[in-house]
Amino acid sequence: MVVAILPFLQRTSIAYFSMEIALRPEIHSYSGGLGILAGDTARSCADLELPVVFVTLASRAGYLRQEIAADGSQVGHDDPWSPAEWATPLEAMIAVAIEGRSVWIRPWLYVVTCPIGHQVPVLLLDTDLDQNAPEDRKITDHLYGGDEVYRLMQEVVLGIGGARMLQALGFSIGTYHLNEGHAAFLTLELLRRRRRSGGNGLAHEVDHVRDMCVFTTHTPVEAGHDRFAYEDVQRILGADFVPFDELRPLAGEDRLNMTRLALNLSGYVNGVARRHAETTQRMFPGYRIAAITNGVHAPTWTHPAFARLYQDILPNWGHEPELLVRADQLRDEDVWAAHQRAKRDLLEEILRSTGVAMDPDVPLIGFARRMTGYKRPDLLLADVQRLRAIDARFPFQVVMAGKAHPCDTQGQHMIRDIHDRMRQLSPDIRTAFMPNYDMALARTLVAGTDLWLNTPLPPLEASGTSGMKAALNGVLNLSVLDGWWIEACIDGVTGWSIGRDGAEGAEQHGHDLYDRLEGQVLPTYYQDRARWIGMMKQGISKIASYFNSQRMMRRYTTEAYVRP
Ligand SMILES: *Cc1c(COP(=O)(O)O)cnc(C)c1O
Repeated sequence: MVVAILPFLQRTSIAYFSMEIALRPEIHSYSGGLGILAGDTARSCADLELPVVFVTLASRAGYLRQEIAADGSQVGHDDPWSPAEWATPLEAMIAVAIEGRSVWIRPWLYVVTCPIGHQVPVLLLDTDLDQNAPEDRKITDHLYGGDEVYRLMQEVVLGIGGARMLQALGFSIGTYHLNEGHAAFLTLELLRRRRRSGGNGLAHEVDHVRDMCVFTTHTPVEAGHDRFAYEDVQRILGADFVPFDELRPLAGEDRLNMTRLALNLSGYVNGVARRHAETTQRMFPGYRIAAITNGVHAPTWTHPAFARLYQDILPNWGHEPELLVRADQLRDEDVWAAHQRAKRDLLEEILRSTGVAMDPDVPLIGFARRMTGYKRPDLLLADVQRLRAIDARFPFQVVMAGKAHPCDTQGQHMIRDIHDRMRQLSPDIRTAFMPNYDMALARTLVAGTDLWLNTPLPPLEASGTSGMKAALNGVLNLSVLDGWWIEACIDGVTGWSIGRDGAEGAEQHGHDLYDRLEGQVLPTYYQDRARWIGMMKQGISKIASYFNSQRMMRRYTTEAYVRP
């Protein structure tokens, strides 16, 4: 019996599977938005006492530690962390067959504790065991690293290994939530289990699995959906794991498509914002795609200065962020003082990490995201002349951050290009690129800027969550109408839009961004501070009260986990 897990066995009935999860900055088992969402989900499950266990990979070598070289290019390193320092090893082992070998898996237990003491367990699966061959010991090392076959082996460990581990530990799970398609092999393990216990033909077995599975898809970008060659699947899993004539209709004829597999074996499927659900519905006609818009964990992303303000007038705000709807009652001078406090913290961090001294009285525009094509991180700095002209009337400064995946050459190029442009703007316009965007840096950035910019190419931003974190701290959003912002933007009240309704041509967005900055955003900051602060309060009360992970998890519970 594994003692540390005992308190959770009786009360847990839901398992949440995710390739990545951001538990705390020191645990490098995440890369970006998907992992942050999984972490916020776990924090809200603890707050709400939901009966959930989380399953992920240990990712001992992390994702990517980013340095910026003198020429402005990204230098990537491993980003190891030490499970023994943060988690408890459980004396349980199970095996999955990979290429005919038994690959043994052991879990680390990390417990998420909410401020009032409720806890949920997280299992981090690890193959770095003496029992395994040297190459198998590395399967759970590099998050999103290696080639397609490496990824396939990781997803076998996550989906099949994860399901077996829960069973071996004594969990009795009625609902499995697949956070993105990476864990979809789990559905095949459940099919096999059903068959062994006396299945009733494939159609009935599929229905049985569908009753237990919930699938959340996160990306309308084609490359974001894993596909594996059937020859590889056959070599890795063996030909009879699930017979191929049964698997192909469920997972795709030519290649095994993890999204298809999850869609076909989940009784509830959702996108992560209304627009994203519509886009997904068009990509996969014939499936019913619901929408549950993402949210962020309020206490995690709120600067201490704002937390104190909220605490004073709304003592239960952390547990029930809906209460922030009354943040419009805050005093203007308190809101401004809290904001300037958060801004000073960020400016100190910018100085420390880049040597750039920013001015606390000049508006600071922030942009931090994955450096990849559709996020268009190059849009803001595209027209150096125009930026200079705007700055001559209304001075501003810019801080940016973000990693590019080691295989994303366009993203890497964008980072170099951003640095070139920053040099051209210097010294008139103060700019800084902060290396190694992670959870800790994100907390400082989303609280300390004045304006949070987002420029995705519609409809490719599934949701976006960093703008929600900004709103919790009274930071105003300026964003293309895509993902969550379609639902949150009241132009001139909660922030500003770039473009009108998302239907305008994308080539318009650059001009519109500059027009907005020069025509509305910066003049409001300089000439109508009362209105600016009024908008900060509108942003908190109208955005933070709704786009939080408490509301999100209440909806998953009543709409996805408990189904008629
Ligand atoms: C919130 C967050 C993200 C996701 O932000 P988007 O708005 O979806 O781009 C990515 N990385 C880190 C470190 C974050 O904190």
